Amino acid sequence: AAVARAVGATKVYGAGDTAVRALDDVTVAFPTSRFTAIMGPSGSGKSTLMHCVAGLDTLTAGEAYVGDVALGTLSDRQLTLLRRTQIGFVFQAFNLVPTLTVRENITLALDLAGREPDRDWLDALIATVGLGDRLHHRPAELSGGQQQRVAVARALASRPRIVFADEPTGNLDSHAGGEILGFMRRAVDELGQTVVMVTHDPLATGWTDSAIFLADGRVVDELDAPTPDTVL
Ligand code: ADP
Ligand code: ADP
Repeated sequence: AAVARAVGATKVYGAGDTAVRALDDVTVAFPTSRFTAIMGPSGSGKSTLMHCVAGLDTLTAGEAYVGDVALGTLSDRQLTLLRRTQIGFVFQAFNLVPTLTVRENITLALDLAGREPDRDWLDALIATVGLGDRLHHRPAELSGGQQQRVAVARALASRPRIVFADEPTGNLDSHAGGEILGFMRRAVDELGQTVVMVTHDPLATGWTDSAIFLADGRVVDELDAPTPDTVL
């Protein structure tokens, strides 16, 4: 079954002569406990697709679903609640809070929501991310790769139904990028998480279960078990 889906998703920015059709009748499913890459050239609609399925933006036509919930039927308030409780986000910039420790950054969203973190889940996450000896350090004391690992752990802390990562390795060298991809792979294999990643990097697809290719707002290809060779 799919954790999230887009059905006939169409997104038009602006109107009249300057209108841009960023998504044109896109139907895709993101299956449970799978790592999916969204690929395609710059401007092909990758970010728009991710944002609309993640409830950060709304479609012009068609529908996006998280679980069985059609996002278009939700109020802004319900959408915010769904994002907070069911969706994790990882961005290219790590966006950590510099004054908080690694541990505090990881549990920040739960703390703000007054939710008690699941201890076993957090322990499993911290063991998987390999930051056990850094929990009381601050972001400035970590390498870029380590900071991004904290950002991924933060996205997973509430045990969301799905995690969306937008170019998560875009600011990292290939070694640190490989570590992040390996961590997301383990989050899928060992923790059962569902991860969707927008990426430009054909090498990154080697870590994923499937890749969806967009061009001009349309799905032009879908590959299972992609490798850098089949993608290039
Ligand atoms: P990608 O992530 O593949 O680079 P985007 O989803 O960012 O592509 O953009 C798809 C198309 O929509 C592009 O032509 C882009 O210029 C346009 N676009 C994206 N966001 C906006 C916006 N807020 N307003 C107007 N046009 C936009
Ligand atoms: P990784 O490959 O895990 O991203 P690096 O090889 O870049 O890590 O860094 C090696 C070690 O140096 C790390 O354990 C990290 O704590 C430390 N380090 C890296 N960058 C900085 C920095 N800007 N300030 C302090 N310590 C750093």
